[in-house]
Amino acid sequence: MTTAVDKEEARKRLTPLQWHVTQEKGTERPFTGCYDKFYQKGTYACIVCDQELFSSDTKYDSGCGWPAFNEVLDQGRIKLTKDTSHNKVRTEVTCSKCDAHLGHVFSDGPKPAGKRFCINSASINFHSAGEEKSSV
Ligand SMILES: [Zn+2]
Repeated sequence: MTTAVDKEEARKRLTPLQWHVTQEKGTERPFTGCYDKFYQKGTYACIVCDQELFSSDTKYDSGCGWPAFNEVLDQGRIKLTKDTSHNKVRTEVTCSKCDAHLGHVFSDGPKPAGKRFCINSASINFHSAGEEKSSV
């Protein structure tokens, strides 16, 4: 088990909204996120620790105002927690590596998985499919 992220470093690097969403379980306003209507090919990684979480292949337009995915790249990369805030019972989605708050998962998504991962744009970072990861 490694500590993935230096929180002080992250606070400097992230925008106030990104910090609020990932560290204080905030929610960006619907239809304002940069990835809401964004359908390029690639993967979406955690904005805090850069762990890859979602593929553009599973992204769809749910109409809810936030980026929606019907599957995660790997179940081990997220943690699901029952969230009873705001007088609702929801399932919170967090990054398994750094505990960043990502969004919530609902069970009204498209078949066959039937899942709708409703994720804040502020908590993810898009990597284009053609983009080479730079290695020294
Ligand atoms: Zn993370």
